[in-house]
Amino acid sequence: MSARSIEAVLRPGEPHFVGDGFRVHTFIPGSAKTGMKRMDPFIMLDYNERFYFPPTETPRGVGVHPHRGFETVTIAYKGRVAHHDSAGGGGVIGEGDVQWMTAASGVLHKEYHEETFSREGGEFQMVQLWVNLPAKDKMSSPKYQEITNSRMPKVQLPNHGGLVEVIAGEYHGERGPASTFLPVHMMNAKLNPGGEAHFNFPAHYSTAMVTVQGSATIQGHTVPQDHFILMANDGTEFTITASEDAVVLVLSGEPLNEPIAAYGPFVMNTQAEIIQAMRDVEAGKFGVLED
Ligand code: MN
Repeated sequence: MSARSIEAVLRPGEPHFVGDGFRVHTFIPGSAKTGMKRMDPFIMLDYNERFYFPPTETPRGVGVHPHRGFETVTIAYKGRVAHHDSAGGGGVIGEGDVQWMTAASGVLHKEYHEETFSREGGEFQMVQLWVNLPAKDKMSSPKYQEITNSRMPKVQLPNHGGLVEVIAGEYHGERGPASTFLPVHMMNAKLNPGGEAHFNFPAHYSTAMVTVQGSATIQGHTVPQDHFILMANDGTEFTITASEDAVVLVLSGEPLNEPIAAYGPFVMNTQAEIIQAMRDVEAGKFGVLED
């Protein structure tokens, strides 16, 4: 039992658009301190801070594109998003829900704002995270998990301090519903003013947070909303407190320590595997998906 300190705090940089539906700050890889190797097994994190999209008849989003070698995890905080993939996976997730898509050997997919949400317009806030797969699982079968909020255990914090909602991994003995290939913990700490939550993960796990709503105090250091906090590997335990309503996404995962070859939507172990992935897309081996 030893205290884990903050290694770096990243403020949101200039946002950019992914397609026309996701206005994001890229926190992984977002700086020299949050490269793919440093954050292993978390290889990408795009954060769409709360943003108002006006009504439109044509849903905004990202058209058909491939992925191979990892999992895409989308966490919806505001708004509704629809997903379809060439392995037959698909669905709509809304506030509090998560979709966990294992691209593995390869899928084509598209990600759009859900139709009614698009027509009405509204506030939109999401995290998209890429979780790497071990070399031995990169060519396994694609899979889609829709994780509705009601399936996530809610661990109540003492003194009406709020709760911790477990997506994957474990908090105080409660396990999240996501099935994962690696030891990965993913949870939302939802704190009331005066709330306090303690966390304890192995020191070598890559551990980070995003302040999704409100400011939060981590190991005594107050971090504003919409920031990314990278924790050092110098200890196991840390505490989040809040003096206002706050939501903090907490991530901790065991590093794979395998070579990373990444190009666009492919994350493999070697350059040869990247070239093979591009050939396989051209050869139609990722299946078919209508635009
Ligand atoms: Mn995608």
